[in-house]
Amino acid sequence: MRFIGKELNYLHVCRRKLWLFRHGIRPEPENELVQLGMLLGESSFRRNEKEIAIGEIGVLDWADFKDGVIHETKHGVSPGGGDEAQVRYYLAFLNGRGIPAREAVIHYPLRRDTVTVPWNDEAAEMVDADLVSCELVVSFPPPAAERKPYCKRCAYEEVCFA
Ligand code: SF4
Repeated sequence: MRFIGKELNYLHVCRRKLWLFRHGIRPEPENELVQLGMLLGESSFRRNEKEIAIGEIGVLDWADFKDGVIHETKHGVSPGGGDEAQVRYYLAFLNGRGIPAREAVIHYPLRRDTVTVPWNDEAAEMVDADLVSCELVVSFPPPAAERKPYCKRCAYEEVCFA
């Protein structure tokens, strides 16, 4: 079973969210936060090469392959380390195909902050564990909706708590 980077992110944010996404239930594009994310992705790195597809698992916002650094832009921090899980998966994908990538930098323009995620043996084990967990989540009926502090910012809120 092949997963995309966003799904590994959702695994850490909310397993129900992963399940809903995987089963074709998608948030409305007019959701403000989704729109903001798109806007930031389009405007933050105008001077750099952007949107580099990596197989079918995701799209890098920007990469410096000479230095082995990939970049991801986020409008907000995903709870539970989802952002880190997503870029760790991208690093695994690249290194597994002979493209050396030593770290990922996650940019949070609204917070004027960055987080660096290294690629090493521990990271590889974390990716393997995430993929096993993703497969388990989507293979069973959907996890129940449990209200979390960040549900009100989730595009699936109406699906979960209508
Ligand atoms: S609204 Fe809450 S429970 Fe529903 S998918 Fe989003 S985070 Fe999960």
